[in-house]
Amino acid sequence: MPKSSLTPDDVKAMLLAVADKVIASEPLLSEADRNLGDGDHGLGMARGFTAVKEKISATAAADGIDKLFSAAGMAMISSMGGASGAIFGTLFRDGGKALAGRAELDAAGYAAFLRAACDGVQARGKAQPGDKTMVDALHPAAAKAAEVSGLPLSEAMAAVADAAEAGRDASKAMIATLGRAKTLGEASIGHPDAGACSVAIILRTMSDCAAA
Ligand code: ADP
Ligand code: MG
Repeated sequence: MPKSSLTPDDVKAMLLAVADKVIASEPLLSEADRNLGDGDHGLGMARGFTAVKEKISATAAADGIDKLFSAAGMAMISSMGGASGAIFGTLFRDGGKALAGRAELDAAGYAAFLRAACDGVQARGKAQPGDKTMVDALHPAAAKAAEVSGLPLSEAMAAVADAAEAGRDASKAMIATLGRAKTLGEASIGHPDAGACSVAIILRTMSDCAAA
């Protein structure tokens, strides 16, 4: 049976699973950032998601799904620093705010979460699709979520994860125009953006949790 929604307890477990997956992906994310930047993306994400684990473990699911996501975002903002701390923290914090008043996470809520997350990230970092940043995975994911918001949650999340991975793959062909990779110019072609790799991992892990 496809799942139509996740309870607050499910969302709490999902955030802890995402944290474990991001921490385990540290070598892959560091390698992606070594190709285009300074190689610290994996370590920054692992630090941020270690803080997320501590924060979420100590947060009651009954506080609400909006508070769980926002608390994760605040933990990232205060622990990671750097470009991606603000950016990934904003993704979860602003996405979480859009879930206020929703008792459970369904496909419509997931679409609202990703719309607010993407808008918040773009307002914060000024990246447009095509600049070769994490927005190249997040923007198509948010667009797909809106398209499939009438499906059962588990199916919607799988389609969104596919869109994020396609966006990550499409970033390989892009020339970086923002962040550290900008100085590489055409030499940035051929590698996926590190932050786009993180977005794809996060959204795939969420989808796996909804399918379980
Ligand atoms: P830093 O660039 O400070 O070393 P990280 O290595 O942790 O930070 O993160 C790099 C990632 O941050 C990039 O791969 C890109 O996806 C993302 N990023 C950088 N600048 C922006 C921006 N202005 N908007 C959105 N994402 C950005
Ligand atoms: Mg870096």
